[in-house]
Amino acid sequence: MRPNLVAANWKMNGSRADNQRWLQEFRAAPAHCETVVCPPFVYLQDLVQGLVGTAASVGAQNMSDRVAGAWTGEVAAEMLIDSGASWVILGHSERRAAYGESNEIVAAKVERALAAGLKPILCVGETLEQREQGRTQQVVAEQLQVVLQRCPAAQLLAGAIAYEPVWAIGTGRTATPQQAQAVHAAIRSQLAAQDPGAAVAMRLLYGGSVKPANARELFSQPDIDGGLIGGASLVAADFVAICAAAAR
Ligand code: PEP
Repeated sequence: MRPNLVAANWKMNGSRADNQRWLQEFRAAPAHCETVVCPPFVYLQDLVQGLVGTAASVGAQNMSDRVAGAWTGEVAAEMLIDSGASWVILGHSERRAAYGESNEIVAAKVERALAAGLKPILCVGETLEQREQGRTQQVVAEQLQVVLQRCPAAQLLAGAIAYEPVWAIGTGRTATPQQAQAVHAAIRSQLAAQDPGAAVAMRLLYGGSVKPANARELFSQPDIDGGLIGGASLVAADFVAICAAAAR
């Protein structure tokens, strides 16, 4: 059975004081499934230190597709590892929409992350307009295919894939377990066309307004192996409750 994974995407939230309070609460009720916490870059090392002694790992929310050098404002994969991160979220819809990250850029980032030894959480997902046009599976398949051309499924297995319908992110509007399961099953079939073994082993996370109240039903779907959690991960008690719902 694939072990569930729950990742916290704090986005551009937090402060050193808030993070210490979060850590205190999280440490008092350790999660019973594999967990990753992804704070803003500047807090990575605080989180690495604060999570010592827990089973949780630390990840970044983005990284450069370039190797270190004259790229002002960018952060290289090796720097993340040097700061204690072992995971990185790549291709989040907010980066695709607001920072122009194309499928090709996302694929280049995934390749760099893997080459450096980071575990990528590759995000894919359709907009509301694309869903209403009946193009969900086509859009998601294209996003994944461009990555699979550069990084075979067997390599992506080091990380995970997160299906995050854009219309469900931060909106309070969650995909139904059946809607999410249908896309997860399609992703797994696409992976199987390239590598059946990797398809069975790949962890497919769902993201989009997951909360303690809906987590268990989502995670009980056969092809949903945990979640990528935005807003609810900022409240330690809610994140712990979501992790508990993922414990097998
Ligand atoms: C996200 O941004 O990855 C996310 C899933 O956000 P939220 O849980 O707030 O919808």
